[in-house]
Order: sequence, then structure tokens, then C-alpha cells
Amino acid sequence: MKVLILGGTGEARALAAACPYPVVTSLAGRVRDPALPSAGEVRVGGFGGPEGLAGWLREAGIGAVVDATHPFAERISANAVTACATAGVPLLVLRRPGWTAGPDDNWHRVPSVADAAAALPSIGERVFLTTGRQGLATFAPLDLWFLVRTVDPPEGPVPGRMELLLDRGPYLVAGELALMRRHAIDVLVTKDSGGGMTTAKLTAARELGLPVVMVDRPQAPAAPSAGTVEEALAWLSST
Ligand code: NAP
Repeated sequence: MKVLILGGTGEARALAAACPYPVVTSLAGRVRDPALPSAGEVRVGGFGGPEGLAGWLREAGIGAVVDATHPFAERISANAVTACATAGVPLLVLRRPGWTAGPDDNWHRVPSVADAAAALPSIGERVFLTTGRQGLATFAPLDLWFLVRTVDPPEGPVPGRMELLLDRGPYLVAGELALMRRHAIDVLVTKDSGGGMTTAKLTAARELGLPVVMVDRPQAPAAPSAGTVEEALAWLSST
């Protein structure tokens, strides 16, 4: 059985490495120098919507699809649901659980990146923004100071008062503490991505007593789901 993994996450790479079947990992091609899986084939670029994906699944003889994309990659996940139903291929969504606030956290949960931008002026003035380059234009009109951390340089409108930091996780608490102190950050903005690679900023914010604006995940795709690579492997062996 040949497996398609829709990738772009650490879980996708771990699944490709552990999968006992032939694997193709698909990446969107957004990141200039993407982290690649150590095993299996890799293809890069969109499929051309759900119809394109359904056609590709048939042509490639795919027997199962695991959608291991980022929890905020809404469109490809919706496309996978439609395409797999059309092509008659079983689909599993692999999503690490979201983050949960502890008693010492001061989190403001908001439903979208736009709501995070709307909430910010009443919460802080020096913002550590870690929501990625795609939604950056939403923050451009705000008269606040931003430390923006992204993997690749942003395109399109950006905030007028901003310092850009190009970097990629995983991050350590000591480094995040030093960064936030150095820039006198008074609020952190993040998506509820979950997982361990980027939790250090949440620990640092807690230690510094800083508020966190946490963007909630979009609705989960309408398909069976697994929270770990091990569960996904068990699903594959029973499919
Ligand atoms: P998106 O809005 O859900 O998808 C937009 C389009 O990009 C899709 O319609 C599809 O084009 C193509 N695409 C997306 N993921 C693909 C994949 N794995 N393989 C082939 N084509 C893909 O996606 P996004 O939010 O821009 O995310 C793009 C990629 O970056 C995803 O693979 C995701 O795992 C990763 N990522 C996203 C975030 C985030 O915050 N959104 C964070 C970290 C990593 P067609 O319709 O032409 O097939």
C-alpha cells in the first residue's frame, strides 16, 4: 500500500520515517528551505484544488492518505476530505493536541488572527508576534512595536514599527526569556499550534508574567483523527 502524507510538520516527518509502507510526502512549497523527511519520496507544490488532488491520488495509486499538515492549514485539509471521498481513499487526520493554560498563565483566547489584532492595543505595546508571515498584514495598521519571528521574510504589508527575526524552532526557554527581556516584550501572540517545538515561548511568558494572545484552531476537518504518530501507524496497519 502506498501512502500519501500531507506534510509541513514535525509529525509528518516522523510518520514518514516510521511508516512501513512506501510513502510520498507532499509539501506546499511555501518555505524556501524546508525540513525534509528522512525517508520516502517528496513532492512539492499544490495539486490544483480537491479535483486535482483526487486525480493525483488515482494516478499515483495511493491506498491511504494521512493529513499531517499544520492545524491552521485549513484549505488543504478541507481539500483532502473532498478528494479522498471522491477517489475512495481512506483519510486520517494527524493533529497534535492543542495547548492548555495552567494556573499561572494569563491567556486571552481569540477565534482568529484578526481578533488577535483587534485585542492587542488594550493588552500591550511591545508585541512578540509568532503567528507566521501569512497573517502579518492584519497587524500592519496597528501603532504598536512588534518583534516578528518568521521562517522566511514576509511579503506584503507589515507593521511600521517592527524588528524582523528570521528563525525556526525548536526553541529553548533560556533563549526565549533572553529575547523577550532584551526587547522589553509585554505581550506574546501565538497560534494554538500545540506540540513541543515551540512551547518554550509560553514557558518564558509565564515566567515573566506576560499575557499571551492565543489564536484558537480552526474547526477540525471532518475525518477520523489521531493525536500521535503511533496512533497514525496503528490506523495505517488496520487500513
Ligand atoms: P492552506 O492555506 O491550507 O493551503 C493552501 C493551498 O496550498 C492548498 O489549497 C494547496 O494547493 C496547497 N497546499 C497546502 N499544503 C499542502 C501540502 N502539504 N502539499 C501540497 N499542497 C499543499 O495551507 P497553508 O496554511 O498555506 O500551509 C501551507 C503548508 O505549510 C502546509 O503544508 C502546512 O502544514 C505548513 N504550515 C502551515 C502553518 C500555518 O500556520 N498555516 C504553519 C506551519 C506549517 P492546491 O489547492 O493547489 O492543492
